[in-house]
Formats: sequence, C-alpha cells, structure tokens
Amino acid sequence: MIDGYGRSIDYLRISLTDRCNLRCVYCMPEEGIDKKAHEDILRFEEILKIVKAASILGIKKIRYTGGEPLILRNIGWLIKETSKIPGIEDIAITTNGILLEDIAEDLKEAGLTRVNISLDTLKEDKYTAITRGGDINKVLRAIQKCISIGLTPVKINTVLIKGTNDDEISDFINLTRELPVEVRFIELMPIGQGEKLYEDGFMSSGEVLAKFPELIPLESNKVSTASLYKLKEAKGKVGFISPLSCKFCSQCNRIRLTSAATIKPCLHSAKELSLKSFLDNEVLLTSVLKESIYSKPSQHNLECDKKSGSERAMYQIGG
Ligand code: SAM
Ligand code: SF4
Repeated sequence: MIDGYGRSIDYLRISLTDRCNLRCVYCMPEEGIDKKAHEDILRFEEILKIVKAASILGIKKIRYTGGEPLILRNIGWLIKETSKIPGIEDIAITTNGILLEDIAEDLKEAGLTRVNISLDTLKEDKYTAITRGGDINKVLRAIQKCISIGLTPVKINTVLIKGTNDDEISDFINLTRELPVEVRFIELMPIGQGEKLYEDGFMSSGEVLAKFPELIPLESNKVSTASLYKLKEAKGKVGFISPLSCKFCSQCNRIRLTSAATIKPCLHSAKELSLKSFLDNEVLLTSVLKESIYSKPSQHNLECDKKSGSERAMYQIGG
C-alpha cells in the first residue's frame, strides 16, 4: 500500500515480547522489566490474524523481533504458520543469537528466510559486560551454524558506542574478508537506555567511513536502510545504518507492531493505534492497519531533538 507521502509500505516488524535473556546497556535497564499479564500480550494466533490482514494491504515481508524472540517456545510454529499466509514472501528474525544455534535448522525448515544477529564486540569479557551476562561463544557458534545451513546472508548488527567498541571497528570489517556475512554498523539512538549513553557515545557512520577509505561503495537496494560497502575480494559486506546522520525516512517501507497490540507507524513517534478491539474482525483490522499506514509521518526528528518521540523503549518496539 502507498502511504500519505507516496512511499510503498510492504514490511511489518513485529515485537513478540518485551522480555529478554540479556540486558544490553544501551537497551534494557539492569534490573529488567516488570512482567506483563498474559492478556496484555498478543498471542501467536492473534499475530497471525494481523499478518493476514496486513498481507491483504500488500505487506510481503515480516520480521519477528523483541525483546528476544527466541525465548518464546513455539516460535517455529509461528514461522511455519506465517509462511502459509498468501502474499508473505520473506520471514526474518532479529535476535541476540544466544538461543539460536540449536534451533536454527528447525526455524529454516519452518520457513525462516533470514536472520539478523546482534553482536557489539568480538571480545568475550566485553560482550559479557555490554550484555550484562551474555556468553559470546553461543553467538559465534550460532553465526557459524546459520552460515553452514545456508540461512544467509547472515547480518550482524553492531551498535557503535564511542569508548566502548570503536576500537574494534577494523576487527568487524576484517571479519567480512573470510565470512559471507554483512556487518551492519548502527548509529546509537537516543531512545530508552540509549539516551544516557548518547551524548558521549554517539559516533556517526561518516566518522567511521573517513577512517576506512578501503571500503568500496556498492549500489544499495533502494529500500534498504543500510548503505553498503565491501573490502576488495572480501566474502562479506559492510553496511552502515545511519538514522541520525543520514536518515532514510523518505525511503521508509515499514510499520511496526508491538507485543501490546499497538501499531507504530514510525519508530520515533509516540503515535500508536491499538488493534486490540479489532482482532476478531478482519475487515475492521485491515481498515485500522490501512489508517496507520496512511498516517505515517514524513520523517522523525531525532537528529534535532536528540531524543526519540517514542514513549516505548527499543526492547518494546524491536528496533
Ligand atoms: N533482542 C534482539 C536483538 O538484540 O537483536 C532483538 C531486539 S533488539 C531491541 C533489536 C535491535 O535494536 C538490536 O540490534 C539492538 O542492538 C538495537 N538497539 C537497541 N537499542 C538501541 C539503541 N539505543 N540504538 C541503536 N540500536 C539499538
Ligand atoms: Fe535484549 Fe536485544 Fe535489547 Fe540486548 S538489544 S537487551 S538482546 S532486546
């Protein structure tokens, strides 16, 4: 469907839960979050109703995210049922990778097409510190597993934080020499816990690119949020996601569904529409989704406000 600014919206990102098995410093409070009551969280059957209604409006691509989507049992079932919905061509997940190794094959079999794995450092101790307790070896094994079973291209999401992981940028870039992965450097956003780190920690994609002239620009897909580069003769690619320094709102093709059953037309806007009362009526559901697509703002204002307009944190939206 075309939104109010002429953009074609064909991508729905779904946050399945706001709970997580990690506590990344820029995302989750150290003490964790209050557990929601069951009735306040969308059930998988309800999610499938929403995906079906969205597919009628031309949504072709689904991404399951969170919180951490893989802490949910039966995610394989959800992926399988999603793949049966006519019009859905692509089903991806964004995960921290901790629980992925053992279930990657089953998820692929169920219909998962692609996976984004978050990894902000290649050093064991630093990983444990950033995630407040995670084991990097599980993530590295998951990446290898996904490559070996052809769940590719594996995209590695790396949020850059000055003073924390900017000393490892070249190690991440060098990873693409031998591994067929796409390392995507993401600018730290002033949202949720990221707000506290933003002032001292923000590093623009331009700052990184200036230090690595050996990165050769590639022609990017028009709707891709990442600008892509490559080292000569490397197996993988390097991407830059620059929501602040080079925002891509004019090419935005997505809407977001939170686990609280609200649609967010824009990641950084407080505007949300609740789908709760329409879940049993496909016609009404489709019409509210249509309204949310049509009401997508033209752009966010993060780079000027230095603060997200969203009232939800990243772990509630899914990135
Ligand atoms: N738990 C999964 C994971 O970590 O991949 C999925 C949810 S997580 C909220 C989705 C993405 O948002 C991750 O790649 C994470 O690094 C990113 N993220 C979280 N807070 C952020 C912030 N303040 N700025 C930029 N990216 C952020
Ligand atoms: Fe959890 Fe992902 Fe947030 Fe880290 S970034 S705390 S893994 S939801």
